Amino acid sequence: MNFSKDLLSFIDESSTAFHAVDVLEKRLLANNYIPLQESEAWDLKPQTAYFVSRAGGAIILFKTPNNWDSEAIYHIVGAHTDSPCLKLKNNPVSFKDGYQLLNVEVYGGVLINSWFDKDLLLGGKLVLENPDGSLQTELVRISKRLRIPRLAIHLDREVNKKGFVPNAQEHLFPVLGLGEDLDFNTWILQETGLQGRILSHDLFLFDAEASNFGGINEELIYAPRLDNLASVHASLSAMESVGFSDNTVQMAAYFQHEEIGSESQNGAGSNFLEATLKRLSQSVSDHSAHYYQTMAKSFFISADMAHAVHPNYASRHDAHHKPYLGKGPVIKSNANMRYATDAFAIARFKQWCHKAEVPYQDFCSRNDIGCGSTIGPMTAAKLGVPTIDIGNPMLSMHSIRELCSTIDHELIIEVFKEFYRAN
Ligand SMILES: [Zn+2]
Repeated sequence: MNFSKDLLSFIDESSTAFHAVDVLEKRLLANNYIPLQESEAWDLKPQTAYFVSRAGGAIILFKTPNNWDSEAIYHIVGAHTDSPCLKLKNNPVSFKDGYQLLNVEVYGGVLINSWFDKDLLLGGKLVLENPDGSLQTELVRISKRLRIPRLAIHLDREVNKKGFVPNAQEHLFPVLGLGEDLDFNTWILQETGLQGRILSHDLFLFDAEASNFGGINEELIYAPRLDNLASVHASLSAMESVGFSDNTVQMAAYFQHEEIGSESQNGAGSNFLEATLKRLSQSVSDHSAHYYQTMAKSFFISADMAHAVHPNYASRHDAHHKPYLGKGPVIKSNANMRYATDAFAIARFKQWCHKAEVPYQDFCSRNDIGCGSTIGPMTAAKLGVPTIDIGNPMLSMHSIRELCSTIDHELIIEVFKEFYRAN
């Protein structure tokens, strides 16, 4: 339960991918991790913890082993910091019928219905210009609540029969307030107490409600962004719980932009992890082949949430591959390699589960329902590292409010601990 309690506060503080990385940086600094800059040379010592972040939304943390030399291998957990949501457009405000409205775009595969009739908050990154011309980036959260109201059933009598199918361009304007006039930047400066001139922003809407335990025995977790902050938190917690390994670099890589395809400066399709691993390789060996030799001996766990069987829609799962909540991490397989998993990777992962005495389950989608994907295949291809796709089972994936089980979060942390301890 202890890790799960901490997960709730971690999620509530991590309103956006930027906030998640900020929370991680502060936590790592407090735990004596040394910050590295990509723009500087690195002088890495044994038995030392480091982190490096990129563009505010991605971060890699690692601990060098006791024997920090050319024989060291890498055990890496990869996950993502972003979740589907609504993003503010550059020209953010409209006025219609006496309302102040926000102009938003859909970020990723949002379950749009779930964003209606929810209290929403606004937060993210502002770039300000100071009087001397310098630019300043600020992470902000605005405390005023917004809402996208549903249409009353009296004005849409067929909705329960025909379904609620909002049009993302016509029906997705959050109400900011009443009035025909508002200078958005002035309002933001007033709300945040910041000085200067706002030149640009990356602002997102998020759920105003705090995360909670649910179920009669608090066996469930009700929270936003479980996909994939739960995997971030699980690997972070494991990393914090284990000592230095003799020969293994313990590493976690958290990327932004997974929900929109990972192709960005700090997505899993970028060179962020590869460049970091090459710098580590170069600090223990002068041979150009050393990096490739090391990757072949290392292992990557792509951790992302999995689809638990839904009691009201059980037929959406293959009858023999139905992950249950509370029964441990899910091994995801797909013949067409939408997941990176192969037999060798499964065998390795099962060994770590056996050692941790944690049960595991299998997921394979129905042959007539398309399969999702993760950062696993792309990372395996880029690095040439043996890789598995796994993750904890959950319901309501990509809803504004998701659901997973308390025990699964505790169990997967035990497996990650074994993975990080292994040499
Ligand atoms: Zn995900």
